[in-house]
Amino acid sequence: MLNSLIGEKSRLSKPQLKKVFSDLSFLFNRENLDEYLDIMNEGTQFVSDSLVRSSGPSTGTSLESAKQKFQNIDLDQPLTTISGTLEELRQIYADDTIYFHQPTYVAHLNCPVVYPALLAESIISSINTSVDTWDQSIGATLIEQAVINWTAKEIGFSSEADGVFTSGGTQSNLMGMLLARDHYAKRHLNHDVSTQGLPEQFTKFRIFTSEVSHFSVQKSAAILGLGHQSVISVPVDSNLRMRARELKRLIQQSIDEGEHPIAVVATAGTTDFGSVDPISSIAEVCRTHGIWLHTDAAYGCGLLASEKHRHLLNGIELSDSVTVDYHKSFFQPVSCSAFFVKDHNTLSPATHHADYLNPLSDKNAGIPNSVNKSLQTTRRFDALKMWLTLRIMGKKTIGQYFEKAMSNAQIGYKAIKNEADLDIIHKPEISTLVFRFKPPHVKDELLDDINKNIRQEIYKSGQAMVAGTKFRGRNYLKFTLLNPETQPEDIAFVLKQIQRIGWMLLTKQKIDMRHS
Ligand SMILES: *Cc1c(COP(=O)(O)O)cnc(C)c1O
Repeated sequence: MLNSLIGEKSRLSKPQLKKVFSDLSFLFNRENLDEYLDIMNEGTQFVSDSLVRSSGPSTGTSLESAKQKFQNIDLDQPLTTISGTLEELRQIYADDTIYFHQPTYVAHLNCPVVYPALLAESIISSINTSVDTWDQSIGATLIEQAVINWTAKEIGFSSEADGVFTSGGTQSNLMGMLLARDHYAKRHLNHDVSTQGLPEQFTKFRIFTSEVSHFSVQKSAAILGLGHQSVISVPVDSNLRMRARELKRLIQQSIDEGEHPIAVVATAGTTDFGSVDPISSIAEVCRTHGIWLHTDAAYGCGLLASEKHRHLLNGIELSDSVTVDYHKSFFQPVSCSAFFVKDHNTLSPATHHADYLNPLSDKNAGIPNSVNKSLQTTRRFDALKMWLTLRIMGKKTIGQYFEKAMSNAQIGYKAIKNEADLDIIHKPEISTLVFRFKPPHVKDELLDDINKNIRQEIYKSGQAMVAGTKFRGRNYLKFTLLNPETQPEDIAFVLKQIQRIGWMLLTKQKIDMRHS
């Protein structure tokens, strides 16, 4: 059946497929290995054809026209051939999707991916290991543990450290704050949140983070029952780094007011600016008051692999917990991310022993069930992507890719500085540039509109993709440079487009105003 689905073309090219097929030939097993090889081949061929066809990061399609293509699709009517199905998928997805490998894609924190990780993806999903318990995963749990240990060592943690792969930085940050909350309650209030729920003082729990940290800090506070009100915003300096002095002052003020500072979330690489908070000074403040320090290195973790820039993360080893997103700066496919603690004993709030899955007797026998450390139960074997990347490419090459992205940011910074009609916020520490089209003597309100529209027009052109953000209430454009293949000419090209569109919109605006 599947054989006939694959269609005439591949049957001709593979005359050895002579078996009689039933509906069961869709199943991955030893009997159906010809189908397996064919279908995987169809998949890679589809992707490779899509790349050959794509000429830019997008086609600039609109929501309406993207939706239109779904009009005649009935999911209750399966298509009869693989080629027909892929042809449909080409139309509704591959033709107009966003391609992160394109050198003029400079929008969000999406990276081009490396081949060892793609090789891993095909293995992960075919064998379909779940790394929740040892008895379901065997070597996979040990591979994950090895990648965790490797990363913990790069962070500078001792052998007391531990960690677990997560779905992403958002989940890792949630774990950091969960442990901070429960750790505080136990240590300072002699209260066990896992069994007793929140202590009565919970409305006075406070989490300190910089004004430009990731929104998942607020989200986690809400999920943890503390509410957005528990998050105190700490001002940043002109380089968008948390002011440690202000942190110290705000914590003291909070204590004086009878509140309970439970955690500080430092950021090593803010999403918008790539700024790295002064972790050592922050750790010092935390140590004085016995406050949990979580460092969100979702973006900046790539520095761990760079010999040249590793020093930017100095002090990260003083954190109680750390977020690492390999799917941002280690060139891994989504999802590939992990959470780390300095002291493995602190992971216990994530533990629950279920008789059918991970009984306490397992733990006593030294059996490594990673579900004990995770918010998830069934969990992908994402660690294999990092394992094969380290075994095939090695840390040094990954680090060099990231260094290239960082040097592109310096090139872009200089280029923008030289233009009278572009205004940049700060000198990048990692690889983002936040700037706007700003010719002299134009009102801020008008500039806000124009910069927003520049982004739209660039998308519509299909030739590049840039991001947008707000800074101090004004609209800005943002480049996130993660592609080591991006050349200075690509950066110059996108900047030229921004200026051209900016002047065009400004002129149009002036004409419109004259006519109104
Ligand atoms: C991207 C990002 C996150 C969220 O990570 P996800 O993997 O998208 O869930 C958290 N913090 C920072 C600083 C980030 O850049």
